[in-house]
Amino acid sequence: MKILFRFIAIVSIIISLTSCKTATDKQLADNQNVHEAETLISEDVEEAEEVVEVEYDVKYVIETEHFEIKFYSLDFNEEHQLSIEKIAYSLENDYKGLAEKYKTTVDGVVKVEIHNDHDKLHIAMGYPGAPDWACGGYAGGKVLAAAPLLPTPGGIDYEGLINVPIHEYTHLLLRKINYAVPRWLNEGIAFYEAKEHSKEWVETTIQDGIVKNEIPSLEYFDTGNDFQEFAVRQGYQYMYTFVEYIVWTYGYEKLNALIADPDGFENIFGLTKDEIESNWIEYITIHYSL
Ligand SMILES: [Zn+2]
Repeated sequence: MKILFRFIAIVSIIISLTSCKTATDKQLADNQNVHEAETLISEDVEEAEEVVEVEYDVKYVIETEHFEIKFYSLDFNEEHQLSIEKIAYSLENDYKGLAEKYKTTVDGVVKVEIHNDHDKLHIAMGYPGAPDWACGGYAGGKVLAAAPLLPTPGGIDYEGLINVPIHEYTHLLLRKINYAVPRWLNEGIAFYEAKEHSKEWVETTIQDGIVKNEIPSLEYFDTGNDFQEFAVRQGYQYMYTFVEYIVWTYGYEKLNALIADPDGFENIFGLTKDEIESNWIEYITIHYSL
């Protein structure tokens, strides 16, 4: 990758020199000399690597009413700019709805870092060496996410990556209600609100579980801090449907009560955790069967 970025830097120097060639008559007359100088410079640049080393840093900033979005990258172009503008729009667009649903907001302007490099993103997230499908996180009150143009494994596309900051912002909101909200509920809600993955991904997972008669229990998805194991257990897909079941059946008021008291099933629903689990399995069997 380093070689590629160096190559881009060299090309841009050559282009800028080339565009200068038509500036004056004198330069036209000296065209041959300029061409020779250009060749010399480009060769020099290739040998003196540190001269053209491009710094990975903030290349673009958008400030909206509730968010400050910084784009960290080696390079920057119009497509990057458009993607960051889309992130700003989607965050502001969902801000009010999320505030109404969860009856809270994050104090002050929320800082959002978009990283155009998986390794740098994972360091910012506090998970250096994390797999590349880990395309977002939150740390120090900030939202962190992969750049939408960064090829990311795990079936998430450009439009999905635009919505990842909403997923992470939702985590910040839930943490305000209950700092210790368990992963199964936390991730289910964040994915349900952001919808950064396709509904088909959820449907095929659930349909497979129904066909094999292997719908796991809620307990199975309680993987604590281990987000990789949560993903391996298909927790995102299954917990999406659990949140959908609670919202559609009981509404956001009960969901908020569950966030505040994740063990309070009987007080909140008048049913035990096992009974709610049975009803959820019945719900997905009806709604997700082929
Ligand atoms: Zn998450």
